[in-house]
Amino acid sequence: MNNKRALEIINILKEIIADPRCELDYNNIFELVIATVLSAQTKDSRVNEVTKVLFDKYPTPALLSLASLSDVINIISPLGLAKMKASNIINLSKVLVDEYNSIVPDDIESLMKLPGVGRKTASVILVEGFKIPAVPVDTHVLRVSNRLGFSKSNNTIVVEGDIKKLLPKDLWIVSHHLFIHFGRYICLSKNPKCLGCRLKKYCTNKED
Ligand code: SF4
Repeated sequence: MNNKRALEIINILKEIIADPRCELDYNNIFELVIATVLSAQTKDSRVNEVTKVLFDKYPTPALLSLASLSDVINIISPLGLAKMKASNIINLSKVLVDEYNSIVPDDIESLMKLPGVGRKTASVILVEGFKIPAVPVDTHVLRVSNRLGFSKSNNTIVVEGDIKKLLPKDLWIVSHHLFIHFGRYICLSKNPKCLGCRLKKYCTNKED
């Protein structure tokens, strides 16, 4: 893979996917943080169903920090790992109130110190909430990057570095959205939609 080939792929993805964007519903960066933490191993559409209720009842870090664990578990129970996620978002809200005056920080080191926030989630918050270039690597980005030759690694940090080396910074955000969308709807983990795929000539995994 070289930079020219990487750009060719991104340009084709831009033609295939008209409006690549985050599918989580949120009204402010605090809600984005909570929705992103809740989205681990869960479909965005399911997260959107529970956050409608959650954000209505607990719209600020201060209110969510004082919520009872059982009530939050109850609200988010349709999601997997509800107990752990409920505990994380309550504790995360407490940290925001106590240490950040209820304002979400905009640097990756501070974000990664919040309960339930790893490198991928922190990068999503930078990209989505602050429009700061970053390359969050989730399961879709990892798979698509491997198949299209951006990286041979299974290590998300290595994949992140490989993508960053191949693409100019001003394409990191859009590429992240394109890879997720392509992986979620076309280049699926099982039974990818290879028939007619315009990226077949770049692919190491095509099903003829
Ligand atoms: S040919 Fe199939 S596996 Fe390869 S990029 Fe296209 S959809 Fe994905």
